[in-house]
Amino acid sequence: MASLSDLPIRDDLRGLSPYGAPQKHVRIQLNVNENTHPIPEAVATDIVSSLAKAILSVNRYPDREFTELRESLAGYVGHGLAAANIWAANGSNEVLQQVLQAFGGPGRSVLGFPPTYSMHSIIASGTGTRWIPGERDASFEISPATVTRWIEQTSPDLVFLCSPNNPTGTPLSLETIAAAYEATPGIVVVDEAYAEFAPAGTESALSLLPGRERLLISRTMSKAFAFAGARVGYLAADPVIADAMRLVRLPYHLSSLTQAAAVAALAHAPEMLAMVDDIRRQRDRLLTELPKLGFHAWPSAANFVLFGGVDDPHAVFEALLDHDIIIRDLGIAGHLRVSAGTEGETTAFLEALEGLRLH
Ligand code: PMP
Repeated sequence: MASLSDLPIRDDLRGLSPYGAPQKHVRIQLNVNENTHPIPEAVATDIVSSLAKAILSVNRYPDREFTELRESLAGYVGHGLAAANIWAANGSNEVLQQVLQAFGGPGRSVLGFPPTYSMHSIIASGTGTRWIPGERDASFEISPATVTRWIEQTSPDLVFLCSPNNPTGTPLSLETIAAAYEATPGIVVVDEAYAEFAPAGTESALSLLPGRERLLISRTMSKAFAFAGARVGYLAADPVIADAMRLVRLPYHLSSLTQAAAVAALAHAPEMLAMVDDIRRQRDRLLTELPKLGFHAWPSAANFVLFGGVDDPHAVFEALLDHDIIIRDLGIAGHLRVSAGTEGETTAFLEALEGLRLH
């Protein structure tokens, strides 16, 4: 059997590993930060009738400008943004890839701050963009001074910030984002995949957009919006950014079925987001209960919690699998990450974990 090294693959891809969250058929899946609540039946019915209509013209290419979807997304994000401020793709991963295709690439670099979303560096290598790992302050935070120092020392073409950060849950201050923007003539991307889970009153980086045409806020319908399987991510930015994205996107990249499903779902935004409060409560429960079991839970503004004080993360991961529960071992020493599930799922996880501690 041939192996990868037998192929004339790009030198810079040799020896790399693909994105690696294990896909297992396990009853309780708390490993990839999905919204574990299924979408409401009434919304599903409405989406199906939109799909039924869209399928009748599937002999034609979709709207290449996905205008209706951009209008719906603009209405959803608010902040005075219009369709022209929005770009979308098949998941925010694809949005980020298009950003690096347009602004990164060979000879260019992107600064990020590990531990952070693993796909940031993987998309960097896929696009031939050099990944520069910065260092966070204590408790995974990034101060305005730290971001400025890293930008001044490394002169990246792009800066990727993740707020709240995956996998640590750490929120990022608007001051740090504004300082990053001031410090670089390049592109600043704020990955806000989990923004809707932040405590009420938290200001999104969307509020920083006016007057900052190099600032991009990436968002997704995969998390709070319970739409991960449909693959819809988007960014909000100055309208000129969409002109850059048009140079690199494949024509008709968003299928007419994706567009129809997303528009129908966005028309039901309040119902789709109805479980967010409950998920926040389960997240807060994890933050309270994990320390009672002797673990250190890092503060989280997202729908997951990173916890430390785990003697053997791999063994705990495997033992939970035996209970039909999957969480995430990210290879951070002494740590594991768990998504906040439904109340029942969260209870099952906590009880199984307590059981392991007792044995
Ligand atoms: N950004 C972050 C921080 C994420 O955690 C994820 C998903 N795990 C994504 C982006 C990508 O999500 P999607 O492609 O489903 O929009």
